[in-house]
Amino acid sequence: MVSVADSIVVVTGGASGMGRSMTHEFADKGASVVVVDVDEDGLEEVTSEISDNGGEAIGVVGDVSDHDSVKNIVEQATDEYGTIDVLCNNAGILDDYTPAGETSEELWDRVIDINLKGVFLLTKAALPALTEGDEEGVVINTASVAGKVAGGGGAAYTSSKHGVIGFTKQLSHDYGPDIRANAICPGFIKTGMTEDMIEETPDEINDIVQSTPAERYADPEEVAQVVTFLASDDASFMHGTAVDVDGGWLVD
Ligand code: NAD
Repeated sequence: MVSVADSIVVVTGGASGMGRSMTHEFADKGASVVVVDVDEDGLEEVTSEISDNGGEAIGVVGDVSDHDSVKNIVEQATDEYGTIDVLCNNAGILDDYTPAGETSEELWDRVIDINLKGVFLLTKAALPALTEGDEEGVVINTASVAGKVAGGGGAAYTSSKHGVIGFTKQLSHDYGPDIRANAICPGFIKTGMTEDMIEETPDEINDIVQSTPAERYADPEEVAQVVTFLASDDASFMHGTAVDVDGGWLVD
């Protein structure tokens, strides 16, 4: 693939949490980053931080669950930088651990639309750019430990993340070697998604993390470093995997 330093990278959900750390990791390594989010203010902050650090990034306000918005994301990325080498489908929302019996159709649709359909829509729209030229395109999808086991979310979230892993495998199957697609499965990470839980139910969160081998939650940078590794040639023989970045959550 194109070296990370020379690559054009799209990161969704880039205004906060793990996505924000990914944009910084890629920019620090010399990549040009297209930061996508629904949060316009957050986007301005992250792109300013990157340019203050001497990096290259543009922000694109976009909703990954919306077809027209996704089309615009790809157009803006290719108009600005010519192509897309790496796509990080990272935007996602929680379902407040809602069990199936209490999940409204509206909640189900919202979670599946953003967490799963969004991954499909943007990947599909970016495929022509990702597969043009001789170099392989790279796709990295943010799943979760909830993509492998129950209990990391509610019915909609767990279903969406299992779907993300399945989609990643099928993408590898259908488009390898032109596309090298992998997923990541973070455990408990301190981000915008989890900071309220850490504040409001510290004992519960402590119990969860103490039951993992790492005995702690992680900072988003610890996940972003794995993502830039997966985007690099050091991960050249990794296709269709779902890499656990979970402090050992899934060991038993
Ligand atoms: P976060 O809330 O800090 O960041 C998510 C970002 O996605 C936000 O900036 C939000 O505005 C954006 N977003 C939401 N809906 C969007 C949409 N429709 N289009 C574009 N952007 C949208 O959360 P995070 O923890 O950094 O989450 C990133 C990913 O990691 C998610 O897919 C989440 O499911 C997954 N994840 C998180 C954890 C964790 O412990 N935090 C664990 C496993 C997986």
